[in-house]
Amino acid sequence: IGGGPAGLIAAREAARAGASVIVFEEHMEIGEPERCAGLLSLSGLKRLGFSVSGKYLQNIIRGAVIRTSNGRWRILDAGRPVAAVVSRSIFDKEAAKQAEHAGAEIVCGVRVKAVKRDGGEFRITASDSIRQSLWVIDAEGAGAALLRRFLGAGTEPRKWIPIIQLIVENHGLDKRFVYIYLKDYLPDFFAYLIPIDESLGKLGVASRSPDLKKLLMRFLGEEFPDVLCLNSSSHVIYTGSPLDSTILFPSRLVPVGDAAGHVKATTGGGVIMGGLIAARIASAIAASLNGGSPERPLAEARKLIKELRRMAYLRRLIGRMNSPLLEILIAIATSKIGNPYLSRKGDMDFQISSILGSRF
Ligand SMILES: Cc1cc2nc3c(=O)[nH]c(=O)nc-3n(C[C@H](O)[C@H](O)[C@H](O)COP(=O)(O)OP(=O)(O)OC[C@H]3O[C@@H](n4cnc5c(N)ncnc54)[C@H](O)[C@@H]3O)c2cc1C
Repeated sequence: IGGGPAGLIAAREAARAGASVIVFEEHMEIGEPERCAGLLSLSGLKRLGFSVSGKYLQNIIRGAVIRTSNGRWRILDAGRPVAAVVSRSIFDKEAAKQAEHAGAEIVCGVRVKAVKRDGGEFRITASDSIRQSLWVIDAEGAGAALLRRFLGAGTEPRKWIPIIQLIVENHGLDKRFVYIYLKDYLPDFFAYLIPIDESLGKLGVASRSPDLKKLLMRFLGEEFPDVLCLNSSSHVIYTGSPLDSTILFPSRLVPVGDAAGHVKATTGGGVIMGGLIAARIASAIAASLNGGSPERPLAEARKLIKELRRMAYLRRLIGRMNSPLLEILIAIATSKIGNPYLSRKGDMDFQISSILGSRF
């Protein structure tokens, strides 16, 4: 259920392993509406089986510039390409193409309204038909209404933060870096500018405050008084702990992606890690259907989920730090010692284990 990256990558993997797969997507077109910054690590793209120079590529990134809450600029420079900025609309269409090529059927414009157990199968009530299935992969994204109804539980509701993302013109920044802004009036999440090119960029501001629009205007006035706003979208971003989908595996309705909170709580990024876990879950399902053991892909999924759990813990820790302490940590990370260490050892997706040296 859901034709976002998690659902499509799961469909691709299950179909490749011989399962009969159908993907339901409620929107008429895969990848629309686009509500993502599309910052994906190059290593993550490769791990997911996507080219690092696909049609979805908009920009290549080598580091981050951090504007701390006391107004200082700090630079984290890997000195080499580390991430891609992609058009999520085109990226998702490529994921759909790969899933279809593997044999999955993708049905757009069809909403799944209910999922019920029916003997040993599931009864899927979609807006156009009723179908039976042996397994359900729930990749319905944030909100996950079906999952909540089915399980009576889900991700941590308080950890979803409303976000407004703008496409802006005339940002005037070096396009090889992403820009992170820490502001005392935006305590829930950092603001960002991710360049698409020398002029266009994706600018995001997130907050639990009911005055999010006012905060966005304040941020724009302070940091980007000269940009032109071309487009705006509102959504939510997850900063909590992931669900352990491997525990839910025996129920045969398995949540993946945002529906399961498979998001890096430190940055809100969910495409790569969500996709990697979804692929493992799909392989485990296919192994079960083929009469084999699902244990190996499940063990891999468990490790990935553990990594996300540790990032959620780190996020909670950072959330409790006061600004001066955070300033010191950022100064160390971007120092002459910290920067080379992070560029050698750091990994955007495996933030904790790569730095601790216990790489996945
Ligand atoms: C502003 C913003 C910026 C972001 N930036 C980044 C970033 O730079 N890098 C990154 O990695 N992540 C980023 N993310 C997070 C990323 O977008 C998500 O983690 C990712 O899209 C999750 O993929 P998914 O497939 O789980 O869910 P989604 O992409 O949300 O896809 C779920 C799909 O399910 C469909 N659906 C839902 N319910 C039903 C139903 N009942 N029947 C049929 N279809 C249904 C929806 O229409 C949707 O297409 C960002 C998020 C936001 C909001």
